[in-house]
Amino acid sequence: MKSKVIKIIAVICYYSGLVKLFYRLNRRSKRIVTFHNVIPFNLLPKGKRIGLVDTEEEFENKIIELSKFFSFSNDLRDENSVTITFDDGYKNQFEIAGRILERFGKTNATVFVSGAILNNNSENALIVDLLMHWIELVPEGEYYILCNSNIKHKFHLTDQNRQEIWQSIIWPKFSLDTKNKGRWILDTLNSQYPISKILGNCDQRYLDLRLSGVSSRECENFRNKGWKIGWHTINHFPLSRLSDEEKSKEICDSPAFMKPVVFSYPYGELASVDKTTIDIVKEAGYPCAVYNLPDPGNSIGVFFMPRYTLDSDKFLLHFELSGIKYFLTNFRRLPVVKL
Ligand SMILES: [Zn+2]
Repeated sequence: MKSKVIKIIAVICYYSGLVKLFYRLNRRSKRIVTFHNVIPFNLLPKGKRIGLVDTEEEFENKIIELSKFFSFSNDLRDENSVTITFDDGYKNQFEIAGRILERFGKTNATVFVSGAILNNNSENALIVDLLMHWIELVPEGEYYILCNSNIKHKFHLTDQNRQEIWQSIIWPKFSLDTKNKGRWILDTLNSQYPISKILGNCDQRYLDLRLSGVSSRECENFRNKGWKIGWHTINHFPLSRLSDEEKSKEICDSPAFMKPVVFSYPYGELASVDKTTIDIVKEAGYPCAVYNLPDPGNSIGVFFMPRYTLDSDKFLLHFELSGIKYFLTNFRRLPVVKL
């Protein structure tokens, strides 16, 4: 019900011209947009979007809507432009999204690459992505994860509760597994139903696009075209959970050419970024860092720049990106971050 009311308000704002007015009022606020994966609809396993996925059509429509109000630029100081970013560094970001952007004459996006998947195939995708694929695609049934070496936490997985099992059992367990970074959970699930069998039922093209990492050569080609390549840690684990030593390794062990670009915190919500993490990013020489939500509250700043994930509905997209939604909850214009 609430979402219906919001949608109606968003439609009214769009047709009444309020959206245009708010884009003007908030013209000094830089908009950075987050995308993850862009996959052709016909390749999606069982029609499912696993993780954050836009279809080609959804991505195209978002680019069309952005083009109505912004030029596109990688320059975070250029407040009149929008900056397109992709997190993780999977092949589809260059092959599918890159091709669509080129078709629209846009050759400047930023990709934040995770070291663990650079030059790797689908079997070596990020653990979190393999876990999500396991939970979404394994047959319904009784499974368990281990709480310690001999206590089993059983769960009954059905098509109706996959999301709930992810949220209540797998994700909390994963985010606390600082020692094995989720590998132990994946191994336990794997012993009950192999992930290789699950992925074997997916279209090979899907695996290549969705779960294979970009290569160093592709990064180089796209850098030559005007894209920027930034860093997103090695193992894509919530940084706040790690020891200071591990944080340093995850943040600092990036290729030298990424340092002058930008850093992107994995998951990028408040709980996974603590003060030490921010200090290490500063010391590592990054000029700024991006967060993954539009409103980081008091934490906002050069090392906590907000980003927007766009709604597929154009009215809701402009309702948020113009700053109307922010105004209705905070009674002020969007915050301005000066680089
Ligand atoms: Zn990520």
